Amino acid sequence: MGTLNTHNKADCADVLRRARRLVIKAGSSLVFDLERRTLRHDWLAALAKDIAGLIEQDARVLVVSSGAVAVGRAHLDLLDSPLALEKKQAAAAIGQPLLQDAWRRAAAKHGLNTAQALLTLDDTENRRRWLNSRTTLDTLTGMHVLPIINENDTVASDEIRYGDNDRLAARVAQMCDADLLVLLSDVDGLWSADPSQHDDARHIEHIDTITPAIMAMAEGPNSAAGLGSGGMVTKLAAAQIATRAGAAVILGSGIAPHPLRAIMDGARASLFSPTPHSEAARKSWIAGTIKPAGQVHIDGGAHKALQNGASLLPVGMIKVNGTFSRGDVVSIITAQDIETGRGIAAYSAEDAARICGLKSTEITARLGYDARAAMIHRDDMVILDEADARTK
Ligand code: GLU
Repeated sequence: MGTLNTHNKADCADVLRRARRLVIKAGSSLVFDLERRTLRHDWLAALAKDIAGLIEQDARVLVVSSGAVAVGRAHLDLLDSPLALEKKQAAAAIGQPLLQDAWRRAAAKHGLNTAQALLTLDDTENRRRWLNSRTTLDTLTGMHVLPIINENDTVASDEIRYGDNDRLAARVAQMCDADLLVLLSDVDGLWSADPSQHDDARHIEHIDTITPAIMAMAEGPNSAAGLGSGGMVTKLAAAQIATRAGAAVILGSGIAPHPLRAIMDGARASLFSPTPHSEAARKSWIAGTIKPAGQVHIDGGAHKALQNGASLLPVGMIKVNGTFSRGDVVSIITAQDIETGRGIAAYSAEDAARICGLKSTEITARLGYDARAAMIHRDDMVILDEADARTK
């Protein structure tokens, strides 16, 4: 990944033209016309035409499309009142086949075949399922088929769901080694403040590094979610996952027809550069985990050791939370309650709880089996930088 050089004044148009593997995410407010209470078939056909042009140039393209819930709600005449999660899931079950069919017809107009892929959080958080999904998607794009991806809202529960397609799209971009993720919504990029409220709001054209100051711009009215579930906060979280996996990210407006052509013609959008030395695939997968399975709390000595590149040893562990198995990704929490890193647990939560504070030589006696020294080996760990560290 990371094949697109977005520095040296590269702009969105240029990056979009050069991308070889792209994930395009279309938000509910674009796909579905709330006023007319119907899918925007013409808009889908126009976007499909833009995509067909890219595929003709031998690019591999995947779409992450929202809209199943909105379409299902319209079908049930349930658009006007807030809905409980189970009703939204039922609405998604009704809306998804209609949404997929609309995409199928839109793409067919331009000679493209579509495929449907419905993913749940488990498919991206479990390494084996991740690799399986990746193989299928890769096979489809290799045959010039356009996968239309959504969260499998019907089976996703509150605990185990993305809830927003921005981060799902970022994980798909990472899964498919995309060099570009395009997040299309009803905003034309990142602004320093809400432009409808602040005359002095600045449009941010190019973001090299997602700093805490950039993250702060997502707060306030900029984060308005509209019809879908995401907002600026989830878009920046998605940009963070994708850029550190080596993909550039374009945040652009999809309101007008032919949104990709518009960006190529110079429409305003924001461009996020990929992190220059992106981590190896396995580490960036660990860093991009949406919901770590548990937490390991560590002491000050261990914190210092981790910052110097050491593995996490049980002697530096204070306690563990959550129910995780060996092989799951867990968060590493400091005494200040900050998530400083993530890694693959070498012990289950149960065993880890029994060896907190023990020296390596004491572990085997406590567990009754010949154990590994480290709770998280440094090869299985990522230390989050300042912008990523999250207060728990
Ligand atoms: N999966 C949801 C749907 O298809 C959309 C989630 C989102 O708005 O990002 O309706």
